[in-house]
Amino acid sequence: MTEMTEATRATGVLASNRPSGGDADTGAGDGAEAGRWDLEAIRAQFPILSREVNGHPLAYLDNAASSQQPLRVLNRVERYLREQHANVHRGVHQLSAEATEAYEDARRSVAAHAGTADPAEIVFTRGTTEAVNLVASSWGDAFVGAGDGIVLTKMEHHSNLVPWQLLADRTGCDLHFVDVTPGGTLDLDDFDRLLEKRPRLVACTHVSNSLGTLNPVREIVDRAHAAGALTLIDGAQAAPHMLTDVAGIGCDFYAFSSHKMCGPTGVGALWARRELLAEMPPYQGGGEMISEVRLEGSSWAQVPHKFEAGTPNISGVVGFGEAARFLADLGPEAIASHENTLKSAALNRLGEIEGLHLYGPREGRTAVFSFTYGDIHPHDLSTILDQRGIAIRAGHHCNQPLMDHYGISATARASFYFYNSPEEIDALCDGLAMAAEVFGGIA
Ligand code: PMP
Repeated sequence: MTEMTEATRATGVLASNRPSGGDADTGAGDGAEAGRWDLEAIRAQFPILSREVNGHPLAYLDNAASSQQPLRVLNRVERYLREQHANVHRGVHQLSAEATEAYEDARRSVAAHAGTADPAEIVFTRGTTEAVNLVASSWGDAFVGAGDGIVLTKMEHHSNLVPWQLLADRTGCDLHFVDVTPGGTLDLDDFDRLLEKRPRLVACTHVSNSLGTLNPVREIVDRAHAAGALTLIDGAQAAPHMLTDVAGIGCDFYAFSSHKMCGPTGVGALWARRELLAEMPPYQGGGEMISEVRLEGSSWAQVPHKFEAGTPNISGVVGFGEAARFLADLGPEAIASHENTLKSAALNRLGEIEGLHLYGPREGRTAVFSFTYGDIHPHDLSTILDQRGIAIRAGHHCNQPLMDHYGISATARASFYFYNSPEEIDALCDGLAMAAEVFGGIA
């Protein structure tokens, strides 16, 4: 599945995979019942959205960096900590059993979000970054050697680049980069040329965190497989906006983060095909990941526990599970529909502003907008907007090679989520007009 609207096709998967009888807080009154999108009711579930910043109502447009958390997630984490906390898996006492059940229940709801029927294919990590590092270390060290190729793209987040550079340093493998067109899409002819080198792996982002480009991951995976390569998809910017259909995409690894999809920070997941996880060596050693330990050597626990050494971020995982359930209850169609409305409106409004250069494609994109405005430095823009309560991000967005590709050092980036309102687009545009005034016009 590559298109946001196609997320709707996976609804049945989610509904049928959804764990029943979990101890989630009720989803009643979430604002999206029966196809109705009651933005006010949805926003009311995010306490932070009603605060003021610098005397103005907050317009939070930094969702690609981290999204906000609804009461349901905050309450679930608090309930876990107040009533159920103990270490997981090892205890026989009641609290440990409850904590373990909460932790494994979260694995089931995250698995349902990813589109797998097998929760054991979900490895909890610290986030997308650690998920990619896990694959690069475990699979990479075991199966990649000197002269082997890894194909990446020029639009990868540093998280899906630096771990492969480290692997290249360790093994002598070669990294190749698919070019990005001036319009902000992947050059698939260049991709085909790189596939002629018969790489071991293609690792590519599902959605660009700078350009908003929605990459044709199904196509990319098919071509990579035909060339004999495994595939890793960085889903950090896709999983928050659509149900992931790992089976439909057909990839081998898929990485995503909780904190960009209404969950807590410091937790995320790697989905991988069970056979791959089974043949990969452990990533880190310690407690929880072993079957037996002797002074002479050790054996490993079954997947996914083999990859979860030490005491995990239990409350974070519980919150992550609740966030996945929250998104499922809102409904992927409803989320996509509201985000599409915001995206079209923002594209039109930003497109009308003279001197504003918007990066990324017009079609096949999400509501992430990187732009420069005249010669105002993106950091200055961000500061001026902040004075009006508008939170955007400025910088290289962990995409330095992409910035180099466009010959710039930074952009301003406004990124929307399902709880944003059309009024916040107005606020952004008014704020930009004010910035132009402050700078005496746009060069
Ligand atoms: N990949 C992409 C495309 C991202 O946008 C991000 C976060 N900005 C990451 C990876 C890294 O995610 P995390 O920091 O949650 O590990």
